[in-house]
Amino acid sequence: MQTREEKRESGQIAKKDNKDFLDFANKFPKQNMERKPDWIRVKAPNSKGYQETKEILRERKLHTVCEEASCPNIGECWEQKHATVMILGSVCTRACSFCNIETGKPDAVNPHEPHNVGEIAKVTGLKHIVITSVDRDDLADGGANQFVECIKSVRIQAPQTTIEILTPDFLRKNGAVELVVKAKPDVFNHNIETVPGLYSTIRPGARYFHSLHLLKRVKEIDPSIFTKSGLMVGLGETKEQVLQVMDDMRCADIDFLTIGQYLRPTLRHAPVDRYVDPEEFEFYKKMAYNKGFLMVASSPLTRSSYHAGEDFEQMRSQRNSMLLKKNSV
Ligand code: SF4
Repeated sequence: MQTREEKRESGQIAKKDNKDFLDFANKFPKQNMERKPDWIRVKAPNSKGYQETKEILRERKLHTVCEEASCPNIGECWEQKHATVMILGSVCTRACSFCNIETGKPDAVNPHEPHNVGEIAKVTGLKHIVITSVDRDDLADGGANQFVECIKSVRIQAPQTTIEILTPDFLRKNGAVELVVKAKPDVFNHNIETVPGLYSTIRPGARYFHSLHLLKRVKEIDPSIFTKSGLMVGLGETKEQVLQVMDDMRCADIDFLTIGQYLRPTLRHAPVDRYVDPEEFEFYKKMAYNKGFLMVASSPLTRSSYHAGEDFEQMRSQRNSMLLKKNSV
């Protein structure tokens, strides 16, 4: 498996002195990395469990979004053997300004990857696995078939493990969503990421209503699959815009909402507009439950896969008790 530096040297991903990359990065002010408030400081990852997870992943040549996106929760999650596996390589075909994953010429699809993903679930005894991918606009199916193969592999090798997929938007990939839904993941997650007014600067290759429609479509095809989506705050959105996105999500029948603080990965990424305080996260949580979400995770360090297993269990029992109530009326 090549390192980022080796990929940069071979020209597969953008070098820091590449003109296109610099034009992109120069859109953002070069202020110093803001001092983070106390409520988002985390401990450096160094536990035994963390090291073991790292080795298990390295042996199987698997990438994770935990590392590639510099997730602040990596120490806590990996200590408990919970990692979000990132399939279809480590190079993305899009260049979103919030994301630390490299942009460039993507890797070849690895036919052994589905087997390795299933094996991870088996050897770690995971109760719940989260599988995500980079955007693969270069592939005819956007990578849908690799998701299907990974789901099948986990079902065979670790039948007790529940499966959550966090997919790209499959923009202009007809039939891709249908293909993945047919494989029956337990949770279909796709992040809206930000309010529509910020899409042109934060998520320029994506379309807000397309993302909403994708999640609505999942529910239409198979209402038994839980749908989930996430928002980052602190990018310049207003409270009213966040509440409007919640309403749009409920119209798309989304079950589970996650809201977390945006953290700037490097000076070349979009700056943090503000650090949202914990009280405001609590306000969003309360409002989201009032609007009818089955499950809400809202805190500064919430990420779409943070505590995903525990939250899935809670959401499932929530739905079961609602169904019981309905049937007893
Ligand atoms: S929150 Fe998700 S991405 Fe971050 S370390 Fe945990 S599993 Fe990985």
